[in-house]
Amino acid sequence: MYYILDSKGAFFGISRYAAKIPHPPVAAIASVAHTEPLSTQLRKPVNKQSFDIAVFDGDGIGPEIMQYTVQLLDQVTAGCNSFKLDYTSLPAGAGHYEKTGESLPQASLAAAGDSDAILLSAMGLPHIRKPDGTEIVPQIDLRIALGLFAGVRPVFTFPGGPQVLSDDRAAQLDFVLVRESIEGLFAHKDEGQVIDNNEATETLRITRKVSEQLFDFSFKLAQSRARRLNRPGKLMCIDKANVFRSFWFFREIFNERAAAFPDIETSAMYVDAAAMKMVQSPWDFDVMVTENMFGDILSDLGAGIMGSLGLAPSADIGINNAVFQPCHGSAPDIAGQGVANPLAMILSASMMLEYLGDNNNCEEATRCGESLRGAVTRAVAIDSGRGRDIGGTAGTESIARTVQDCL
Ligand code: NAD
Repeated sequence: MYYILDSKGAFFGISRYAAKIPHPPVAAIASVAHTEPLSTQLRKPVNKQSFDIAVFDGDGIGPEIMQYTVQLLDQVTAGCNSFKLDYTSLPAGAGHYEKTGESLPQASLAAAGDSDAILLSAMGLPHIRKPDGTEIVPQIDLRIALGLFAGVRPVFTFPGGPQVLSDDRAAQLDFVLVRESIEGLFAHKDEGQVIDNNEATETLRITRKVSEQLFDFSFKLAQSRARRLNRPGKLMCIDKANVFRSFWFFREIFNERAAAFPDIETSAMYVDAAAMKMVQSPWDFDVMVTENMFGDILSDLGAGIMGSLGLAPSADIGINNAVFQPCHGSAPDIAGQGVANPLAMILSASMMLEYLGDNNNCEEATRCGESLRGAVTRAVAIDSGRGRDIGGTAGTESIARTVQDCL
């Protein structure tokens, strides 16, 4: 089923995704690039047979990449007996703000909060701004409102896919950046002050509660990776504790929480050095955890060494909710041209299936996520699956069809 709600939450119609592509069986996967299974269960598993998925099409290239992602989700889950996905399309974004003056309607936020998982493409358009000059950023408002403190940004290279760094070791990158996503420099984002023509200030906020949640999540992620990769796990705190008291506070909480995870090797690095290391020797990283603004910047650097923002997925995880969206924005420069790479969005959807599976004891959902990820991995190595952003010629539809064929 696929319902569309209007901005007040009322039933609006049925989806344009109703015309589905055919459903071949879920295939076993061979060698796949890894996104990270999110088996760091934050709440008690529940056994559900139907998962409510809130869908935000967003702005710019958002609707173009979302339509194929939902079709692929339907295809990969079609043969499943133990669960199904029910989608609800929710309005929000810059386009919605332009029409209504609201960027994230209360009804959309409420429906997203009630869902089992949220799929979001990208929101915002540079020419649509609030009177104070800033853009509307409902994707950030959503994270803060739902308490999605852990932004999981896997960085990996695809076998047969693009390799940006020339060193042979860069052919098998596999690390994860965890970006704190509800406080840091974003905590008071609507309260910055332009005092006069000569001065402006912003406030950075770090709390013990969110930092502990963030570090515990990151340690568990490092443990989960250590089990998967059959080697000791490592977690590195990225900060600026040499200059800012708030970051020393952050570092001290990190060190305190480390005592509860003696199996994980810990270290710390200043963010400037970490940026350099991500280019010079990224294969040395395992799990990195950092503040919101630093994570925002470093995750685009991560996407850069993967080959493109169009390949970089992400998840924003909280205790009760999670958003799955690509690292990239709405790419207005290529919107409407049919050339956006949908793979970051599709990989984010595969992370969603793995999250639903891991958090609800639903092995079939986890397997579907792995299958989708495997299909993306295979598609990137085929000409018809290689977009312009990674040196190929394929458009959005061709890439999505190639993933479909690889399932
Ligand atoms: P962007 O990520 O949209 O684009 C940066 C560059 O990457 C552009 O050249 C774009 O064409 C390219 N690119 C991005 N995604 C691509 C894809 N899937 N396939 C091929 N190429 C792709 O960043 P921007 O231009 O700085 O921001 C555009 C808008 O998006 C702004 O309004 C910004 O606020 C918003 N934004 C939203 C999010 C989000 O929703 N999470 C994140 C970042 C930026």
